[in-house]
Amino acid sequence: MDLGLKGKVALITGGSVGIGLAVADGLAGEGVDLLLCARDEVRVMKEANRIGTKYGVRAIGVAADVSKAPDCDAVIAHAAETFGGVDILINNAGTGSNEKIMTAPDDKWQYYWDLHVMAAVRLSRGLAPMMRQRGGGVIINNASICAKQPLDYEPIYNVTKAALMMFSKVLSNELIADNIRVNCINPGLVLTPDWVKTAKQLTEGTDQTYEQYLDGIARKFAPIGRFATSEEVANFFVFLCSDKSSYSVGSTYYVDGGWLNVVA
Ligand code: NDP
Repeated sequence: MDLGLKGKVALITGGSVGIGLAVADGLAGEGVDLLLCARDEVRVMKEANRIGTKYGVRAIGVAADVSKAPDCDAVIAHAAETFGGVDILINNAGTGSNEKIMTAPDDKWQYYWDLHVMAAVRLSRGLAPMMRQRGGGVIINNASICAKQPLDYEPIYNVTKAALMMFSKVLSNELIADNIRVNCINPGLVLTPDWVKTAKQLTEGTDQTYEQYLDGIARKFAPIGRFATSEEVANFFVFLCSDKSSYSVGSTYYVDGGWLNVVA
């Protein structure tokens, strides 16, 4: 199926590994030029170069910490100078947390608020006017099933991802008149290198292999009984970026192998 994305430009935050990188590959495969940002400059440049060579698109890697306002401004300026703006913004950069509300300090709350919410606010605010000039656009926020169904060990993650989900809804109301569609995706268990690293750490010196540990988690939580690959989730992002999803506005979509335990 031709998704009609050829020649579009996308900014993907956290586009150097995991889900963000899989979305980058998926969009590049459709002929989309890319601006990828992440903090680790070497890794993001390497992946941008790989993608540019593999798919014959323009792919640029830029070092930025999107939890910081000046870095968001720099990314917006980069997008404006290099591509005259973007058609697609994927707010994907994020990470899990581990704390108790009673003991977590304010600065930890602030960091996750800045990373999961303010990055999306700042980048949307900076890039939407350029999308408007280009005739419209798409913004997708990558929240998490935890935005709706919390995991006990990461209250700050749950709360900030829930805020991102609501931000998607209210932003969509504000931007749809400009032909900019905003949606949110809530993945469940997605097998990224970070999950493998954590599983290896937790099983080191035990009788369990890291594969057994991951399999146990998947069987416990997801009715489908396994993790998603990043590509399985990325496919949904790519579809939502295209005009094939032109009536999808302001929604949150679960890609979770059946994990969400309510009707939403
Ligand atoms: P990874 O840890 O594999 O990748 C995270 C990406 O974000 C990396 O490119 C990382 O690069 C970048 N990043 C992290 N912090 C910042 C920052 N401050 N500024 C800029 N870039 C940053 O994560 P996943 O692919 O697993 O997750 C991607 C998103 O999906 C996250 O928002 C996560 O919450 C969400 N999600 C993931 C699930 C999963 O099971 N994997 C499930 C549900 C949601 P660098 O370190 O170089 O900055």
